[in-house]
Amino acid sequence: MTATLIDGKSFAAGLRQRIAEHTAAMKERGITPGLAVVLVGEDPASQVYVRSKGKQTRETGMNSFEHRLPADTPEAELLALVGQLNEDPAVNGILVQLPLPGHMDEAAVINAIRPEKDVDGFHILNVGRLATGQKAMVPCTPLGSLMLLRDQLGSLSGKNALVIGRSNIVGKPMAQLLLRDSATVTIAHSRTCDLPDLCRTADIVIAAVGRAHFVKGDWIKPGATVIDVGINRTDDGLVGDVDFAAASQVAGAITPVPGGVGPMTIACLLANTLTATARANGLPDPEGLTP
Ligand code: NAD
Repeated sequence: MTATLIDGKSFAAGLRQRIAEHTAAMKERGITPGLAVVLVGEDPASQVYVRSKGKQTRETGMNSFEHRLPADTPEAELLALVGQLNEDPAVNGILVQLPLPGHMDEAAVINAIRPEKDVDGFHILNVGRLATGQKAMVPCTPLGSLMLLRDQLGSLSGKNALVIGRSNIVGKPMAQLLLRDSATVTIAHSRTCDLPDLCRTADIVIAAVGRAHFVKGDWIKPGATVIDVGINRTDDGLVGDVDFAAASQVAGAITPVPGGVGPMTIACLLANTLTATARANGLPDPEGLTP
């Protein structure tokens, strides 16, 4: 392996430590940040995520409020809970775990969250604010990826960045963040032609496809920085969207899976909760946590 390993696990641990320090300072002022997580149904992966979100929230000294609703909960009941959390001054951040059961309108539920408490950054107002360069709540996985990129490269200005995947959760907000940092951004998706050639021109590759080992080693420009967002369960365990063994021979720096972007996501959720708390109390944004 010639590439530098981008250690998201250790970066996230440092970030959580800084968040815990900010939280302790807020508590001295009588303010305890609070994150409410709502889980509808029994999706096994969602249950694991919600459990570790709650655990890490408590570990940083914040209040964690968990709401579990049965899968057949009527949408109106979920909306009523969201309305209640919107009004609760102890709750600074609200996260409704996706995916929601099929009978619910995800967009309607997300857009019912007060934008200032939308720590996932999926509310239409936050999407618009990010796209227009206003202060927004930024989706956690792209935010974590940006932090790793800035830490690795310093300035992203003028770099050719290729985002593979155009989801609302990862690809699109990632592209917006890279644009904000003055990278030249290309978004590739399932209908893109000549992806390998496109990839060979990229100084930065963000893979968010959801297909194991999709990005091959010979697609990578020598020295490029590769951020692998993919999480794919295979017979060999968890693997990313990038063929790590081959790509790490060519790239300048690369995130592993697991231990790369994954741990950054929950750390950024806590960072967003802290930012939301600061804004709700008229305090400046905690340093280094907002792009
Ligand atoms: P998604 O299924 O919503 O989007 C996948 C994207 O890949 C689509 O935009 C599609 O156009 C694109 N795509 C599919 N086939 C393609 C092809 N042949 N060529 C180019 N593009 C293609 O997925 P998502 O929610 O954006 O997640 C992507 C991956 O990231 C998944 O593996 C998911 O598990 C992972 N993920 C990880 C984290 C984390 O915390 N690390 C968070 C969210 C998602």
